[in-house]
Amino acid sequence: MPDSPLPWHRPQWQQLNERRAQGRFPHALLLTGPEGVGKSHFARQFAQSLLCNSPLATGPACDDCRACLLVRAGSHPDLSLVSPLEGKKSISVDQVRGVGHYLSLKSQYGRHKVVVVSPADSMNVNAANSLLKTLEEPNEGSVLILTTSRPAQLPATIRSRCQELRFGEVVQKEAAPWLKSQLEGDENPLTLLALAGGAPLKALRMADKELVSLRKDLFTGLERLAAQGADPISLANQWVKADTQRGLYWMYSWITDMVRLKATAAAPKISNEDMVQPLARLAAGASLQALLQQQERVVTVLRQEEQNLNLQLLLEDLLIEWRNCFAATKQRPFVQDDRI
Ligand SMILES: [Zn+2]
Repeated sequence: MPDSPLPWHRPQWQQLNERRAQGRFPHALLLTGPEGVGKSHFARQFAQSLLCNSPLATGPACDDCRACLLVRAGSHPDLSLVSPLEGKKSISVDQVRGVGHYLSLKSQYGRHKVVVVSPADSMNVNAANSLLKTLEEPNEGSVLILTTSRPAQLPATIRSRCQELRFGEVVQKEAAPWLKSQLEGDENPLTLLALAGGAPLKALRMADKELVSLRKDLFTGLERLAAQGADPISLANQWVKADTQRGLYWMYSWITDMVRLKATAAAPKISNEDMVQPLARLAAGASLQALLQQQERVVTVLRQEEQNLNLQLLLEDLLIEWRNCFAATKQRPFVQDDRI
């Protein structure tokens, strides 16, 4: 359950406070913005503040009253959090029917009745249609909070019945100190933020030790291949057992950085700031054209990967092509470990 408000959420708190003060508070809110900026976090905190007996003047809950304790324990009877069930990708129509029924009941503590649907774009068509009925006939005191990083995936009829609250990109100067305070290890917050496209909560998830070492292993494998010193088939085999999609995103971001390093004389802004030197060394071993072609191939495999085609074969081809990018030049990248 929520802890203190995220520093970059102040404008959103302010907006909602103003609406509350003017009595223009919406029955349904749609929180939109990039993945990993804390929309769900905000939704839960806002739900808590609606149920709190004495919210702070700035908006967030007191975090001390009985209602807050119940929210924190996950047992407040007037709050329901709806997400895809374990092992499922979408929110079912039954779950959404449950929301309608839940909101039709009286609040047990006499304040609001709050439902958070997150991510709202994971509702299937029937579920979204069912939610529409609830949105059209809101009950007194009921508040529905939807979150999505893909608002275009939601039917226009749902969007038009919600007040939108936008969350923009987070500026590094607010995100980096917060991220640093959350990290247990000695990971570099700037590197993590760069990897997560600037999204602080995504960056925090990426700090996961296993992911950090997976990224390092994969990069080392690609370096060895580039130096013609590894077997693409066995690397594909290892990769297919790991987080393939994330690996493909990494590969894409490494190639993008290599292209930038190769194409710009002055020091370019790259995503993988912790890998400037190894990426520059690799980039020196391939032509710009070969790198651009490889970048396209990664995009193709990412698309095919979603269609459940034979992933092992796709990765083998991709890695063989990667090796070929470096075979044409005499310059061989210098391989060195433990730098990520
Ligand atoms: Zn409270």
